[in-house]
Amino acid sequence: MREKLTPHLRGIINSPGISKQYVKDPNDSIGGYNDPLMEDSHEVVKGLIHKYKNRALIKVSYQCAAHCRFCTRIRQIGDPSGNLADDEIKNIISYLKRHSEIEDVILSGGDPFLTPNITGEMLSKLSEIESIKVLRIGTRLPLQSPKSFKSLAIDNLLNKIKEISSVKPFYVLIHVNHPDELTNESIAAIKKIKQKSSATLLSQTVFLNGVNIDFNTLNSLFKTLYFAGVTPYYIYHCDSVKGIEQYVGDIELEKEIMRKLRDTLSGIAYPTYIADLENEYGKYPFDLGIIKTTHNKAHKSKLHTEINIT
Ligand SMILES: *Cc1c(COP(=O)(O)O)cnc(C)c1O
Ligand code: SF4
Repeated sequence: MREKLTPHLRGIINSPGISKQYVKDPNDSIGGYNDPLMEDSHEVVKGLIHKYKNRALIKVSYQCAAHCRFCTRIRQIGDPSGNLADDEIKNIISYLKRHSEIEDVILSGGDPFLTPNITGEMLSKLSEIESIKVLRIGTRLPLQSPKSFKSLAIDNLLNKIKEISSVKPFYVLIHVNHPDELTNESIAAIKKIKQKSSATLLSQTVFLNGVNIDFNTLNSLFKTLYFAGVTPYYIYHCDSVKGIEQYVGDIELEKEIMRKLRDTLSGIAYPTYIADLENEYGKYPFDLGIIKTTHNKAHKSKLHTEINIT
């Protein structure tokens, strides 16, 4: 994957919280998995990953405004062969119609906001499928290129989302890892998404060595998101993607930070810490081991809860 930045990111690249995510490191490792989430083996038709029974993910393209060094799809990002042709979109729609167990569809990529026209067309088709009850879009564009949200094409897409969100729940999932990404311009773009589209805004974060494996950084990140109207949804343990293992953090340290954050963050601002561990099947929350529920021997009928913060 070649290095790719936007003018906006270049303007804030002096922050290590930004540069470590985007600027190539000569010490990049070579271990790890090429496709840690085994997405390729769940790609049922081109661009459609059906890995969980009731949910499916569409890769609208492999294009992003900037290239994150730790991307779990590092093997594909930037490759123009990921752009979906009309007949490929037809195949996806027809699969979704045949598989009425799929009720929740996520548009991802690549960044669906980077191709607003294709994404809009796709959404129109998806919203007509009765068995699909919920739609989501994953994006990083508000942080990589907030000024894109001033374009007419994105305005049109936000209007389309608003139409759909009056009929089906619609979530926009913003991938953000460091508070320095939340510049005034980016917050303004996020607020515009919320106001114009009426979608529910959620965030996703990855624990990244050298970027955010630190209580104060994450405390500030989740508070800033919460106060901007974004609900932190997931924080992932980083996948062991080939070439970027130096980003993968220590699970015990990450758990300790999560336990500490529970004291300082409102429940709504506190994301679920998720393991999408390599070559296992799916996303599971880590056991933070905070609460031990034990039967007290003297009073067998009573449940005692021991708070055991380490
Ligand atoms: C993450 C993901 C989903 C959605 O999972 P949730 O836990 O419902 O957010 C669906 N499909 C794929 C392939 C995914 O990676
Ligand atoms: S924006 Fe998302 S899909 Fe694109 S390179 Fe970054 S992490 Fe990967």
